[in-house]
Amino acid sequence: MTATSERPQLEKATFIMLVRNSELHDARSSIRYVEDRFNKNFHYPWLFLNDKPFSPEFIHMTRSLVSGNATYGRIPKDAWSMPDWVDRQKARECMRAMATKNILYGGSESYRHMCRFFSGFLWRHELLADYDYYWRVEPNTQLYCDLTYDPFTFMRENNKTYGFVINLLEFPSTIESLWPTVQNFSREHPEYIHPNNALDFIVDDNKNITEGGYNNCHFWSNFEIASLKFWRSQAYREFFDFLDRTGNFYYERWGDAPVHSIAASIMLDKDEIHWFYDIGYRHHPFTHCPEPKLEFHDSGRCYCNPTQNFDRDPYACTKQYRRMRGDLGVPGRVPGVL
Ligand code: GDP
Ligand code: MN
Repeated sequence: MTATSERPQLEKATFIMLVRNSELHDARSSIRYVEDRFNKNFHYPWLFLNDKPFSPEFIHMTRSLVSGNATYGRIPKDAWSMPDWVDRQKARECMRAMATKNILYGGSESYRHMCRFFSGFLWRHELLADYDYYWRVEPNTQLYCDLTYDPFTFMRENNKTYGFVINLLEFPSTIESLWPTVQNFSREHPEYIHPNNALDFIVDDNKNITEGGYNNCHFWSNFEIASLKFWRSQAYREFFDFLDRTGNFYYERWGDAPVHSIAASIMLDKDEIHWFYDIGYRHHPFTHCPEPKLEFHDSGRCYCNPTQNFDRDPYACTKQYRRMRGDLGVPGRVPGVL
């Protein structure tokens, strides 16, 4: 595969990693996993983003590991700060209150910038302008299965928009008013709600958006293979602006994972969402490992331990996902397993 003549045709796609200089070695580890399991045969580019300038050491020690081009970008100030309409004083008080309740990252302002950045700014960064798809990689994550095909090509050929590997329950205390805000949005913009949506994943008992509550299921966004077209659409932009105007990325601690997941579940055709079941993946503290006795293990593609598979954990949303898929589970591949 390394000979130039045999190089596969690349999609307009890139890896993106938002990362701090201090995470250099965790970043290097993740890069190496991605290169070893997949990219050494494909040479997709890497885009590293940071709210601060990257250190020469960071650049040097990551560039040496990637098999495609590496680009290092800075996040503009307006994409990493509270918008004018957020009351600073109120935000500080809310953060303090959440910190005393021991809510994860409850007291962190930078974490909130990060979540708002992924929700509303990644896809408008100028360094992403030429791309249609991205694969989000976080420092200190692991991949356990050889990827023998190009997931970006898979996305394009199968008309997929959002790909994930792990789904789970969100902490309700971080998103208290997110769902009521989504309900208001859907009342104002019924035209953006897809008739064949994946609402069954996030709302129980067959209820519609305005009658039902949010069951807290979401796709874990530290891994994402997604189309940028969706985030750039009028529908999603209006959705993000609607959420952002409430200030609750700061007053509460809305995560990009529930924001992305809710948007995908109500505004896409459910068939545009794809579970990359065959990608063994770990982000502390959860692992997705394909179930045993499947081609993924028999073929020698995977080496993770299936008994550590998070999909069967009650904290995962496998049941809700299956229900939404009409019990089809993973397309074609693993009948009777999920
Ligand atoms: P968790 O996975 O929710 O525990 O959050 P992480 O600490 O892993 O942060 C999510 C992603 O955002 C990772 O890729 C981090 O490297 C990145 N990140 C978080 N905070 C900052 C920050 O202040 N600056 C930069 N440059 N990256 C950040
Ligand atoms: Mn992380």
